[in-house]
Amino acid sequence: MNIHEHQAKELLRRYQVAVPDGEACFTIDGAVAAATRMGFPCVVKAQIHAGGRGKAGGVKVVRDVGEAEATARALLGKPLVTHQTGPQGRVVRRLLVERACQIARELYLGMVVDRATNRATMMASTEGGIEIEEVAARTPEKIMRETIDPAIGLASYQARRLAFGLGLAKEQVPKAVGFMTALARCFVESDCSLAEINPLVVTGDGGLLALDAKIGFDDNGLFRHPDLRELRDPSEEDPREQEAAKHELSYIALDGNIGCMVNGAGLAMATMDIVKSAGGTPANFLDVGGGATAEKVAAAFRILLSDAAVRAIFINIFGGILRCDVLAEGVLQAAREVGLTIPLVVRMEGTNVDEGKTILASSGLDIITASDMLDGARKAVAAARRRP
Ligand code: GDP
Ligand code: MN
Repeated sequence: MNIHEHQAKELLRRYQVAVPDGEACFTIDGAVAAATRMGFPCVVKAQIHAGGRGKAGGVKVVRDVGEAEATARALLGKPLVTHQTGPQGRVVRRLLVERACQIARELYLGMVVDRATNRATMMASTEGGIEIEEVAARTPEKIMRETIDPAIGLASYQARRLAFGLGLAKEQVPKAVGFMTALARCFVESDCSLAEINPLVVTGDGGLLALDAKIGFDDNGLFRHPDLRELRDPSEEDPREQEAAKHELSYIALDGNIGCMVNGAGLAMATMDIVKSAGGTPANFLDVGGGATAEKVAAAFRILLSDAAVRAIFINIFGGILRCDVLAEGVLQAAREVGLTIPLVVRMEGTNVDEGKTILASSGLDIITASDMLDGARKAVAAARRRP
């Protein structure tokens, strides 16, 4: 689960990570009032779950009430298109009005769970304000890493090493160590999967401040944090992903046009690969899971059908715990409810495969059967191409 910048900064503030004063606002009047309280100049920032706002005009320094109002009016209620949002952009529903600061340097500080070491890792770079992916691609040597021992936490020598590597002056190092230690505690205690401060700025008077903050939580840890769970903003989430979550389906929306229904994460990944290699693009990742019921399969199928981009559906099932006849029942149930208006390619193997095939064959649905995965992928790609 991701949260907004203003919420991330609120959480960081609780851990004594230095963040600018600011207020979240939902209306133009609210933003003007907040800016007036803050004093000018101040910064108006669009709050969406995507980065790249600066370049897209979503971060503006305003000098008076008039500019504050004009900026709030220009942003609120309208989509903001950044290179992370896709061409349709994200509608801005809230703003963060923040005290402006003098920026001497823009640095990068981030934390992730590193899958190679299975540990939380802190990363720092002098190349702040630009995307870390870009730094990693062009100048990987400019990213410093410290692996955190879970029994100890971030050790102060590690924080000092990063601080020196960032080229901070001697008198700034203790501040940086405090900042990093607080961030690391916040990361671990809140079960974060990502915490990114980009930029971490050195201010005109030598202070350190988190000018931006992006935090994501591990969904599996959220049950321990009812207060954090409250921060979920459904308007920022894909409606199909929300529907899938209700039915405990692993579903991730993608931007292709072939809806995939698969059981098992490994087979789902392999299916996406084979669709790609057959020349198509998957519209989603979907693992209906091992013990799926007909109802769950029906819910999954409805989700696929509700995606207007989907031109064909490819069902690729290995019946193990999920039996092929149960799958067929679920597909039928959903198809009867919502109507099947696009080509459906089915490849099934495993438990009760003959029963499953019989159910589908006698259903009256127009089904394209496939003999194996590659055959199915090719047929799905061909069927999707035939449709406008
Ligand atoms: P992002 O583009 O979505 O990552 O948004 P950021 O919060 O990182 O803001 C983008 C850029 O706006 C930063 O890198 C800064 O250069 C600039 N910016 C943000 N806040 C301030 C501020 O208080 N003062 C000044 N002068 N610039 C700011
Ligand atoms: Mn940023």
